[in-house]
Amino acid sequence: MESVSADNGLRVKTLLILGASGDLTGRLLLPGLARLLATGRVPGLALAGAGSADFSAADWQRRVDEVFAAERDGAAEAGAVELERIAARTRYDVVDVTEPGALGALLAELEAPVAVYFALPPAVAQKACEVLAPEEVPEGTSLVMEKPFGSGSESAAELNRILTRLVPEEDIHRVDHFRGKATVFNILGLRFANRFLEPLFTNEHVAKMEIFYDEELALEGRAGYYDKAGALRDMIQSHLLQILALLTLNAPATLGERDLRDHIGSVLRAASVPEDFAASTRRARYAAGTAGGRTVPDYTAEDGVDPARGTETLAEIEVRINNARWAGVPFILRSGKALGRKRKEAVVTFKPVAHLPSGFKGCDSPTRLRIGFGPDTLDLELDVNGPGDMFTLDRIDLSAALNSPDLLPYGEVLLGVLTGDPTLSVRGDTAEQCWRIVEPVLAAWAADEVPMDEYAAGSSGPAHWATSQHDTVDADGPGPRAEPRHAGGLSR
Ligand code: NDP
Repeated sequence: MESVSADNGLRVKTLLILGASGDLTGRLLLPGLARLLATGRVPGLALAGAGSADFSAADWQRRVDEVFAAERDGAAEAGAVELERIAARTRYDVVDVTEPGALGALLAELEAPVAVYFALPPAVAQKACEVLAPEEVPEGTSLVMEKPFGSGSESAAELNRILTRLVPEEDIHRVDHFRGKATVFNILGLRFANRFLEPLFTNEHVAKMEIFYDEELALEGRAGYYDKAGALRDMIQSHLLQILALLTLNAPATLGERDLRDHIGSVLRAASVPEDFAASTRRARYAAGTAGGRTVPDYTAEDGVDPARGTETLAEIEVRINNARWAGVPFILRSGKALGRKRKEAVVTFKPVAHLPSGFKGCDSPTRLRIGFGPDTLDLELDVNGPGDMFTLDRIDLSAALNSPDLLPYGEVLLGVLTGDPTLSVRGDTAEQCWRIVEPVLAAWAADEVPMDEYAAGSSGPAHWATSQHDTVDADGPGPRAEPRHAGGLSR
């Protein structure tokens, strides 16, 4: 599909949510759907839920009614009508999707085309697709797969084979709710619509790029999932590599899904983690402390955690992109839980100017561009002549809020699914590449080639990380630190 954006006509008649009783459905999917319906942009949809016998049609109805009612108040008239209509007609079916024939029989009863949302444990979702026969999948069906997509490049490739046996690649949506439409296009607009930025995004001008996703939240009762994943798989493998791709891809000819996803795939194919993993990666786990105003126990003492798994709650890797544009530039990707400060941003640190006229005094720090995610923001840190003595350089920060979406992240995901626009979905080859990049790190960590450090919950990370290999930590938390640039000319 080559259109710049999806048209408003729906490609899907029925949204079928498998895992109707689950956490994702209740906390993120239904609220995202309700906000989308409230805009009146997706008229005429039918909603169906399915799951185990522990949940009933009445439970489902209650769940939908509660979430939709909360959205109806502020909705436009057309949206309020849609919310009411869909809630009144929704259905629930008890289906064990791993039973051969069960999902196929349900699909045959629903008005096609159907978008099947697998809000299921990953192994159950895979089994459901394995037992589904191609002839049981009506024409036009789309499949929506949650993260994690496989557990490595081989299993992702296997899952891709299973899915493409059922529907074409364009009808498979591998969800990356982090890479929302606004964030994607804010990054692309910023990079490619500004003459002063576009030519500077190269190894000639950029010293390093960092992408941070630090959370104050600890486990929040999700040990069952998180302890088997860890920070590297949960955030870096899935979401941060996608952001890296957007920050480093070459300009596509159009914003159509083919051009954009080709360029994302191309830059990720050039990416890898340098092989001295003790130097290029770090991992740590939180110990007891206070984070986000809450008392947090040792990670290993959290309910549901198996200390023998050696799961990290903070991960940092250095990625290199081996192409002409980016050779030599370190890209630092970092994500962790139970940290002292929420920090969700990309920081581009530029190289110093070739020559600073002698005579300037004061703090001379690198030019930095910070792109904040959710809400999307922009900060450009520059040196200017300060007040008073005009030979003294001073730091200023130009800040702006970027376009924010009217939809929740899962509303954006669903809009793409319902309109048949896979632009925001992760393409099959890219899902495999993201695993290929982190797999050697996971193997090195499993072999204990890299020590497991510790940090107090609510701190900025292990104390010695502030001064070691990536030299990028602020006094108030990990992040870029101003390095002195012009030896001899300036004092700090
Ligand atoms: P839950 O365990 O909360 O829910 C899983 C759902 O699957 C339940 O409704 C369960 O029904 C149903 N289910 C299990 N086995 C079957 C079966 N054989 N046939 C039919 N239904 C079945 O998981 P989550 O909602 O947390 O996660 C779902 C997916 O979303 C996972 O892939 C996860 O990684 C992903 N995800 C979740 C996020 C979250 O915040 N929760 C965030 C991002 C992604 P029952 O309990 O009645 O058996």
